[in-house]
Amino acid sequence: MPKTFQETPYLFYFLKYAEALKSMTFFTSLFCLTLWTSCNSNPTPLSTHNIEQILQDSIKPATMTFDIILEEVTADFLMGKFDPSKNDKYILMKPPFSSNNMYARKEVMEAFKAMQAQAKIDGIQLTVVSCLRDFKLQKAIWEGKWNREKPVDGKILPPLSELKGKERALRILEWNAMPGTSRHHWGTDIDINSVNPEYFETEKGKKEYAWLVENAPKYGFCQTYSEVGSNRPTGYKEEKWHWSFMPLSQGFTQQYADKIKDKDITGFLGAESAVDIEVVKNYVLGINPACKAMLNLPTALLEEVAQEPILPIQNTDVEIIAPQ
Ligand SMILES: [Zn+2]
Repeated sequence: MPKTFQETPYLFYFLKYAEALKSMTFFTSLFCLTLWTSCNSNPTPLSTHNIEQILQDSIKPATMTFDIILEEVTADFLMGKFDPSKNDKYILMKPPFSSNNMYARKEVMEAFKAMQAQAKIDGIQLTVVSCLRDFKLQKAIWEGKWNREKPVDGKILPPLSELKGKERALRILEWNAMPGTSRHHWGTDIDINSVNPEYFETEKGKKEYAWLVENAPKYGFCQTYSEVGSNRPTGYKEEKWHWSFMPLSQGFTQQYADKIKDKDITGFLGAESAVDIEVVKNYVLGINPACKAMLNLPTALLEEVAQEPILPIQNTDVEIIAPQ
């Protein structure tokens, strides 16, 4: 199994660079001194302060590369039909990391803890408000909206006689996944601070979102539901709160594309419209294509995967990047 994180040996290169700069400065000073003595001009050799400034400018944040964690999973797992409390890859996330108790993949918990700590130093408070939701919970959310017990975008849906089938499902799909199709089933995706789009229009929300855009990728997280447009033509509306831990979720997305068909999406009210809507192609795979750019696939791993027909990453990549 590949490592989750690979920190670039930045310090090593930085020290080498510093050494090179110092000797360059020495020769530059020697050159300038020669010029000054021969032409009697008034050169300004690099001072110690200048060297420090140059070195300071060359310091950049440590970069991280991420490898996909290849882990074969079942169709039931992908559709949220498993018990995370009986799976040792999952951990119960509790306050102050989350708003209440919820399950998460251990890797996600670790990455979020590190990100939350850095955010705190920067004066930003991050809390997970939703992580793993199983099929049953997603069904309760979906059917609550379908049955007019819970609002959809602030309003109760019209009666079933006025809005039915595919049209009714599409209204709920603006913000909510059909049971069996949510990335929250995997415990790799987290909603941060609020799931209300208006929250992210407040000063506080804007500041938090700006911090996440700049910093979350350093911890492996990517905003899967970016603005809908030419880059992401289908899927849910933009969700500034939903961040996916790509090193794990990318492998699950690819397996979802391979293993689950629209006809497999069953077991809840309105499920029959999944085929008509082509929910796998348009919603499950309707994610931000930029998320993949942060992942690094070493050649050796690609060769290993090429011999493994269950997870043809090279082939499915194309489909995932550019859903029709
Ligand atoms: Zn979410």
